[in-house]
Amino acid sequence: MSRDYESLHDPNAEYTMRELSAETMGTTGTRGGDRDVEITDVQTTMVDGNFPWTLVRVYTDAGVVGTGEAYWGAGVPELIERMKPFVIGENPLDIDRLYEHLIQKMSGEGSVEGVTVTAISGIEVALHDLAGKVLDVPAYQLLGGKYRDEMRVYCDCHTEEEADPEACADEAERVVDELGYDALKFDLDVPSGFEKDRANRHLRPGEIRHKAEIVETVTERVKDEADVSFDCHWTFSGGSAKRLADAIEEYDVWWLEDPVPPENLEVQEEVTKNTVTPIAVGENRYRVTELRRLIENQAVDIVAPDLPKVGGMRETRKIADVANQYYVPVAMHNVASPIATMAATHVGAAIPNSLAIEYHSYELGWWEDLVEEDVIEDGYIEVPEEPGLGVTLDMDAVEEHMVDGETLFDEA
Ligand SMILES: [Mg+2]
Repeated sequence: MSRDYESLHDPNAEYTMRELSAETMGTTGTRGGDRDVEITDVQTTMVDGNFPWTLVRVYTDAGVVGTGEAYWGAGVPELIERMKPFVIGENPLDIDRLYEHLIQKMSGEGSVEGVTVTAISGIEVALHDLAGKVLDVPAYQLLGGKYRDEMRVYCDCHTEEEADPEACADEAERVVDELGYDALKFDLDVPSGFEKDRANRHLRPGEIRHKAEIVETVTERVKDEADVSFDCHWTFSGGSAKRLADAIEEYDVWWLEDPVPPENLEVQEEVTKNTVTPIAVGENRYRVTELRRLIENQAVDIVAPDLPKVGGMRETRKIADVANQYYVPVAMHNVASPIATMAATHVGAAIPNSLAIEYHSYELGWWEDLVEEDVIEDGYIEVPEEPGLGVTLDMDAVEEHMVDGETLFDEA
């Protein structure tokens, strides 16, 4: 029996991963009755949304199929294809064990952080959909039950005149009045006309005044009709971030997002602890191991993991559990299709400290067409009671919007 490294990726190897699991992980995942299911295939296809969404399908010998989604990024479908032999033959009900199995098997190929974790996240989400269908329960039930029947969604807002405070306020008013949202986000790293050199991270006084004017104009317009957060995309120095946070304190924003890069934990902590403006961080960090340090050092007021990127549904739950020990709310970053958005809904339902889930596609026009069910209504998502994620891909819509060169799932 050959077990050299390359043969582990060979789906035609003489041994099965199930046999290897029995030797190395203590179980083959065998169960009784209808729960003795084996994974037979994993496939992906990419849809050309406002990001190239990577949809994942996990097939079984019981005919039950799980659908998941990985965050967009180069190499994600290739990594999922490479991991396929690690899950074929396994029981999809062992979600935690298979997740750790993939992390371990791909550890030399980057599974500590980065795009490999993203790829694993897509499989992990599909396993929740699959396990829910096998057990005939909604995915939130696999995570411990629910705290709420609907999840609040915040709308990431855009306008072509992103630097014009009045244009931002007009759009905020439109999204509240016409689309029904009571929670919004705008970009704050927009040009003010006062910039000399954006690479040095320093904000000039005119830039601070301009940003404060955007915040003031938007928050004064919507008043108590909506909570409003503002995103800075890791742009400023610690000193400038503190000046900005100080300048907008009086408007009591929902949160200020990523004013500095969180990679330097000490700077992040310094900024967060020196303002009462709530600071949200987390969308570019991976797994509980990275988010844990931000939370334990109280370098975040609100943690913002991206579920189909950070490690999947149970990893997000683990991050939320650590956050809850520090009384920190979770606002899930999300730029996904309805599939991972619904995965986030189930996690958001199952954790006590859930604040909201992002929606980043309101300008697309066909986001919700990708599934057969209604998803967002008046700024909220009803937590589904159907088995698994509770949403079904509309394959005609998937085919219509596939990335050029992609092929539809082969379900023959
Ligand atoms: Mg952001």
